Amino acid sequence: MKVTVFGTGYVGLVQGAVLADVGHDVMCVDIDAAKVAALQAGQIPIHEPGLAPLVQANHAAGRLHFTTDAAEGVAHGELIFLAVGTPPDEDGSADLQHVLAVARTIATHMDRPKTIVNKSTVPVGTADKVAAEVRQTLAARGADIAFEVVSNPEFLKEGAAVADCMRPDRIVIGTSSAAAERQLRELYAPFNRNHDRIVLMDVKSAELTKYAANAMLATKISFINEIAGLAERLGADIEAVRRGIGSDPRIGYHFIYPGAGYGGSCFPKDVKALIHTAQSIDYRPEVLLAVERRNDAQREVLAERILAHYGPNLRGKTIAVWGLAFKPETDDMREAPSRNLLQALWAAGAQVRAHDPVAMREARRIFGDRPDLVFCDSPMAALDGADALAIVTEWKQFRVPDFDRVARALRDRIVFDGRNLYDPAVVARHGLTYESIGRPAAA
Ligand code: NAD
Repeated sequence: MKVTVFGTGYVGLVQGAVLADVGHDVMCVDIDAAKVAALQAGQIPIHEPGLAPLVQANHAAGRLHFTTDAAEGVAHGELIFLAVGTPPDEDGSADLQHVLAVARTIATHMDRPKTIVNKSTVPVGTADKVAAEVRQTLAARGADIAFEVVSNPEFLKEGAAVADCMRPDRIVIGTSSAAAERQLRELYAPFNRNHDRIVLMDVKSAELTKYAANAMLATKISFINEIAGLAERLGADIEAVRRGIGSDPRIGYHFIYPGAGYGGSCFPKDVKALIHTAQSIDYRPEVLLAVERRNDAQREVLAERILAHYGPNLRGKTIAVWGLAFKPETDDMREAPSRNLLQALWAAGAQVRAHDPVAMREARRIFGDRPDLVFCDSPMAALDGADALAIVTEWKQFRVPDFDRVARALRDRIVFDGRNLYDPAVVARHGLTYESIGRPAAA
């Protein structure tokens, strides 16, 4: 099928490449000319495992095209995906300006019926807004062309996006149009062979499903972080508690890892947007408000530990930081807890020596050149001349360090672990003081 995807970010580029890989003819449109030029030259602007060879192979095979020309893009696809960003507005609501801009673009250029498929995460009612925008723009042109707006939220995980799109757990399709349903079933048939993964529903329910999924996951994280805080104060070990509750299949092991809080481009903004939606209709989202408050506090926990240990003035101290990305296997630093830590360390006068396997380029873009931030080529290099180590991202490269070297390198021989990577007894055996989340301190 001929498919156009507006937006070549984490969602649009991965989805476009995966659809091309099963044989669809895909055109990706972006307003970022530098990104499009890079993609045309075979360079992948984001870090996502398996994405580069997939994009390069399908581009070379002539099934995956990149353009900044919206008219060309609209002409190409019978199905047109919206995969543009929906960042939080000042009041926490989802900013729909990019989604509505693409709706106007489509209506400006279309000369035959189109099915518009919304993959961006958008509040309930957005499909109606997109339809109104298209209708209005068509009317201004004096054109009368049929179209459908379908909701098809995306559930991929950054860091595993290609695998998630190749083998989705479910494909949520929100539409009341039998014709649009047929088109999407045909589009996704290659991903739907083993068993039926399509969950068909009305548009509004599909829009809400995406927020409910992210809010549920965020709730699990804030819940375990709350229990971790209790464990710490009561002298219990959250890792034992985690295993103890995860073994109940009604609870499960997923997403109950205590840590330095959730971040990324989705959970914080989607929880905020859902809170905003609820409040806008005078419905008080008690659970969501608590989830967000707990997470805001949790993102400060590492810095608080360090300041509690050293006192409020960190002038003259150098802290090594392992991990900048909001989670492993991605270079995404949007709302990453590392940002809270770095800002707090700098505010207290500390120097930072940081290492991340892939996110240092992004960190340099965000923070620019500053004398109190040194990027280091390896985890061990970050320890040179450092007083303490803080771990923010659970990259597998950090899982089995040479603790003797760590102990020799750190002046104050102390590790603040925001991801509970190590057995406290093992770390202590190497002469290190070890503070983690929700576990008794070991020294
Ligand atoms: P992103 O910021 O990585 O990419 C968005 C892209 O859209 C950018 O390249 C931008 O230049 C482009 N764009 C903006 N306006 C445009 C226009 N008028 N025409 C063409 N391109 C335009 O965003 P993302 O992380 O891919 O997220 C996209 C949407 O998918 C968001 O609504 C997000 O909430 C949702 N989502 C994201 C994830 C994720 O893990 N990143 C997962 C599921 C859903």
